[in-house]
Amino acid sequence: MKAFTFGGDQSMEKAVLPLSSQQVADRFAKVLERINSAATRVGRDPSSIIVVGATKSVDVERIKAAINAGLKHIGENYVQEAMRKYEAIGDAVKWHFIGHLQTNKAKYVVRFFEVVQSLDRISLAEELSKRALMLGRKIDVLIQVNIGAEETKFGVPPEDAIDFIKAAAKFEGIRIRGLMCIPPYKDDPEDVRPYFRKMVWLAEAVAKAKISNVSMDYLSMGMSHDFEVAIEEGANMVRIGSAIFGPRG
Ligand SMILES: *Cc1c(COP(=O)(O)O)cnc(C)c1O
Repeated sequence: MKAFTFGGDQSMEKAVLPLSSQQVADRFAKVLERINSAATRVGRDPSSIIVVGATKSVDVERIKAAINAGLKHIGENYVQEAMRKYEAIGDAVKWHFIGHLQTNKAKYVVRFFEVVQSLDRISLAEELSKRALMLGRKIDVLIQVNIGAEETKFGVPPEDAIDFIKAAAKFEGIRIRGLMCIPPYKDDPEDVRPYFRKMVWLAEAVAKAKISNVSMDYLSMGMSHDFEVAIEEGANMVRIGSAIFGPRG
């Protein structure tokens, strides 16, 4: 048996201590300041930008701290985790589904999510629509676009987006409200700017196509690392996790 060692050479999982509620509130305030500056820089109204707190693996206590500090929207990636948190948080915030959604989980999502940001296939559009209508509601969706054409990422290829949207718009239980993307990661957020710009062009092209049941109200792009650039380019919905809640363990 090996002697105890304290830190150092042992392959120990890096422990990430959760932030305190006060720290979360302070970080959220800082994020809002940065959003304000970015919007103001380009002559946009900061209040037109919706902040979605990306809360995967964040516990209820800290989510509540952010809500108390003014957060109004949260985004969850996993259905099971979200259902558990919904028990504790309820409708104090609007729920956005931002992860990859399996078709057989659509029935749970329509129960309490306001928006599904990750619509990327017709079979899912059909199922969401059917399940929403069964509950007597419609559900807002954003189309996830694989703007960097990355093999590892979900999303509709940009060149297929208009045809995809025309096909998905036929389902009456969903309302297509905009586009979402997760662009390629770049160390320098400036290098992500061309992808954000492409998203804006695409949203404009979709709007011009005047498809019934489709409006380009929301452009969801920008995360902790690059949200200022996204806002400068025209994002009106940013999904921010670690900048508010700290690094994920
Ligand atoms: C985790 C996540 C985010 C937020 O990522 P951060 O880098 O922590 O801000 C945004 N969007 C999606 C889809 C995510 O899964």
